[in-house]
Amino acid sequence: MAVYAVTGSASGMGAAVVERLVAAGHRVVTVDLRDADVVADLSTAPGRRDAVEKVLAAVGGRLDGAVLAAGLGPAPGRDRPALITQVNYFGVVELLEGWREALAAAGNAKVVVFSSNSTTTMPLVPGRAVAALLAGDAERAVNAYRIFGKSAPAMAYGGSKVAVTRWVRRRAVEPDWVGAGIRLNAIAPGAVLTPLLEKQLATPSEAKAIRSFPVPAGGYGDPGLLADWVIQMLSPAADFMVGSVVVVDGGSDAWFRADDW
Ligand code: NAD
Repeated sequence: MAVYAVTGSASGMGAAVVERLVAAGHRVVTVDLRDADVVADLSTAPGRRDAVEKVLAAVGGRLDGAVLAAGLGPAPGRDRPALITQVNYFGVVELLEGWREALAAAGNAKVVVFSSNSTTTMPLVPGRAVAALLAGDAERAVNAYRIFGKSAPAMAYGGSKVAVTRWVRRRAVEPDWVGAGIRLNAIAPGAVLTPLLEKQLATPSEAKAIRSFPVPAGGYGDPGLLADWVIQMLSPAADFMVGSVVVVDGGSDAWFRADDW
């Protein structure tokens, strides 16, 4: 039996990961806004500190792995870019920084961070917002999205996922991480039918963009299929996998970028 922490466990892909881990006999400490072992709001710094400390207390300072699935999709609203930034970027990196020693204590821990294929398929994501996030400056990142007007939440989503993916790839190869036996990788789903996508499909302007987005396999992904990939990335099959981004998106990324390899 291994011990895992999973954020975003109450819904969608995080819930599907938890279901599989528990069915395989593992112990999971769940983190979410509701229906979780650790109820914490990852959009605030105190909420993130609480999540770090309560998980560490629950697992006795040793974690075999973690899955960071909590996230917010683009939705209309003035405050949305800031919220997306806090949850999707800081809600990943601050938790992993706080759990690093516990992951190192396991000797061969695996971490999977939820990125998105918007990292490679969304044009115009401002590089200065990504740079600001990697420097830890949320305010500067959010300011960089303002000029996009109604598209600011979408840009904040893309920016948060690019930044969190770069953070994963930079840290993955550092002595503190891979040198401590921690395998840090990301999964980049395309459109997967979860409550997050359902909310976007219920917003007419976003639904139009999502429906016109090319998905060569057709339709939307199933959360369980994405969870199966995460389980593989938590297994010994990932012992030689470091800083990888696994794209599971029905072919959208290949459709846009077949030759960018
Ligand atoms: P979902 O909405 O079904 O689940 C997300 C979970 O995150 C929810 O349980 C929610 O309560 C939790 N969460 C949101 N804000 C939080 C906060 N402030 N504090 C704590 N928990 C919070 O979404 P999903 O589609 O399963 O998404 C999982 C991950 O996959 C997200 O990071 C998302 O960005 C990413 N992703 C989703 C898609 C898709 O099409 N569904 C595509 C690419 C990437």
